[in-house]
Amino acid sequence: MNEAELLFSEIFGCDRASLYLKKDIPLDKDKLSKVSSVLKRRFSGEPLQYILGKTEFMGLEFRVNPSVLIPRPETEILVETAIKILQPAAQGMKILEIGTGSGCIAISLAKLLKDVDIIATDISDNALEVAKGNARRHGVKINFILADLFNAVDCLMHPADLIISNPPYVASSEIASLQPEISYEPRIALDGGADGLDFYRRIINGAVDYLKKDGLLILEIGFDQSRAIADIFQKSGKFKIIEIAKDYSNIERVMVAAKNG
Ligand code: GLN
Repeated sequence: MNEAELLFSEIFGCDRASLYLKKDIPLDKDKLSKVSSVLKRRFSGEPLQYILGKTEFMGLEFRVNPSVLIPRPETEILVETAIKILQPAAQGMKILEIGTGSGCIAISLAKLLKDVDIIATDISDNALEVAKGNARRHGVKINFILADLFNAVDCLMHPADLIISNPPYVASSEIASLQPEISYEPRIALDGGADGLDFYRRIINGAVDYLKKDGLLILEIGFDQSRAIADIFQKSGKFKIIEIAKDYSNIERVMVAAKNG
């Protein structure tokens, strides 16, 4: 659905087809004022997903608010790559997600892989509230933990087969030049430090302690970052890159590395 369809189907409480097929949808005073307030917010730059309070990811509905990054279509490649690799033997696997935000990655994995044991961390209490609500609505059990990346105690007790993350990866100086909608999103979910790579350094070097032997680290990466991140993997001396997946725009978007030994 395009934005207008999403907005009007929400306000009129009908599906996309009905918007076109129903000849006379009544526009009473209430609906009119709703339309005008929503349009005012949208024209001032607020993302539609925050106005509606929800979005779709991996075919599932997720509640969102300004405490969490709005799930992006390219992040579905991250989830699909993880599923493709794990699926043949996913049962009972332990997964750790770093920086869960709305919970969309962890919850999609729980829904689509079933029988997996997931811990998801975030540094924001408010984000975790959103993620917990989404997990409840989707009927999946995930252990959400407040932590700055890894929580030494909880995560060490859960040596993972897979660590997955879509960390903040925009260079600090670039954030202001992005589309205005981005300014409504939490800066801590986007800002990857001076070169955008701060979290890759911390996650790659930290993950070694929390992964099982031969465990996998799967990361979403930003435009043009693959070489620099491959370098961080190489310098760590602990990982071998086994796959790089591209997104719909042919941009390298997901990196998969296996822990050596
Ligand atoms: N893909 C997001 C954007 O550029 C960034 C997400 C992130 O930093 N992880 O809009």
